[in-house]
Amino acid sequence: MKIANWSNYPIVDSQISSYTDSGKLPFSEAFITRGNGRCYGDSSLNNQIASMLSYNKALEFDIQNGVFTCQAGMTLDRVLEIIVPNGWFLPVTPGTKFISVGGAVASNVHGKNHHYDGCFNDHVVSLDLLTASGEIVTCSSEENVELFETTSGGMGLTGMILQVTFRLKKIESSFIDQRSIKAKNLDELVDLFRENENATYSVSWIDCLQTGKSKGRGLILLGEHARIDQLNTKQGKNPLKLHQASKVTFPLNAPPNSTNKITVKAFNTAYYGKQLSKEQHSIIHYDPFFYPLDAILKWNRIYGKKGFLQYQFVIPFGQSNEGMQRVLDKIREYGHASPLVVLKLFGKQDDFISFPMEGFTLALDFPIRRGLFEFLDALDKMILDLGGRHYLTKDARMAKETFFKGYPNAEEFVRRIKKYNPNYLFSSLQSERLGLTQKTQE
Ligand SMILES: Cc1cc2nc3c(=O)[nH]c(=O)nc-3n(C[C@H](O)[C@H](O)[C@H](O)COP(=O)(O)OP(=O)(O)OC[C@H]3O[C@@H](n4cnc5c(N)ncnc54)[C@H](O)[C@@H]3O)c2cc1C
Repeated sequence: MKIANWSNYPIVDSQISSYTDSGKLPFSEAFITRGNGRCYGDSSLNNQIASMLSYNKALEFDIQNGVFTCQAGMTLDRVLEIIVPNGWFLPVTPGTKFISVGGAVASNVHGKNHHYDGCFNDHVVSLDLLTASGEIVTCSSEENVELFETTSGGMGLTGMILQVTFRLKKIESSFIDQRSIKAKNLDELVDLFRENENATYSVSWIDCLQTGKSKGRGLILLGEHARIDQLNTKQGKNPLKLHQASKVTFPLNAPPNSTNKITVKAFNTAYYGKQLSKEQHSIIHYDPFFYPLDAILKWNRIYGKKGFLQYQFVIPFGQSNEGMQRVLDKIREYGHASPLVVLKLFGKQDDFISFPMEGFTLALDFPIRRGLFEFLDALDKMILDLGGRHYLTKDARMAKETFFKGYPNAEEFVRRIKKYNPNYLFSSLQSERLGLTQKTQE
């Protein structure tokens, strides 16, 4: 069947086997494990795919200590349904709740609290991996450490993650104490991030079309889990309220070129203008704070049937302010308007192969159109010259050299993949493109 991940690019013809409870490898030749397909590129695509979505049970929940164990195909929205009513929250969550726990580990995802709480796997106690030999191996930061390190952010190339145990975060309520501050340009935005480094959650949206003194203007959102005494009467009646199922679905693929400079400018002006005061304070539910995009199902159709690319990179402090300015200049010069431009702060992360490093990360969406790939190749060079790198889980097109230059442990990663996955049984279109595995079948 034809299958694509969230960006609808690339689309591949694939044979899909649903992993259930067999403990057996589903294919004897190259395949890749897939969670909920929320990565943006080709890292969970190949001609043969093992889908984990039916392997999705909660296995254990230590309510006293906040430790949760589930099968890897369980999605975060379902984890939330179990933990939130008991006063616990995810330690780290990406901008959508529709990813699987296995996908969270394989990409070692980050959230709006990276500077504070690190990545998802910093909270993983242990995991079970079905390896290339057919053996199930338990690994953690104390047991089979090298395998754990290589699986964490290892994009499914060491084996199939079957189950995961992770620690949760205690909450009094499921509401967020949110401050939203307007920044008139990128310098002010960066200053606001630095001044608010002690905020647990921070994220900002940038208007990428502004020039001059307003270049990089935006809104920064800061958040803390709200205490019971901060809730209003209505919120206080159900302080551990869960998210609701989304009721709106984007109906059809939008016509070509719907997201262009004019529509993005209109959106940006309205979004920036909707907050009249410099700063607003509110207590809101976790769903719109962490997952605003989940409110509209299939919102990826807005980019039309050719799909889009999400481009996410990080630039280390020292280079990041000037670097971001240069990237924004380049985007405007080239005429590629991105409606979704998200800036986040990263703290230290000394993992083996994970994406974050201390600095700022920017994520942008670009609808696919003529010239985009060449433009992004040029942008890649700029990011690498600034000492930065690109996020594998958002990638569908970067060159092998870009990955090897950006990730200091790339060579060792290749060596370890060969060690744990000697015949490249676990192999994706991305890993073949980046030279992490080699194609073994036609
Ligand atoms: C709207 C949106 C917002 C996002 N925001 C963020 C964000 O803020 N931060 C962030 O870090 N990411 C973010 N992402 C990306 C997303 O969190 C990751 O791509 C995540 O890995 C997707 O998980 P998935 O279950 O959909 O896995 P897939 O997309 O199916 O697979 C992703 C990778 O995980 C591997 N994998 C999946 N399951 C397993 C398994 N059981 N065993 C071994 N390997 C496996 C795949 O082989 C592949 O390499 C966002 C994505 C979307 C669509």
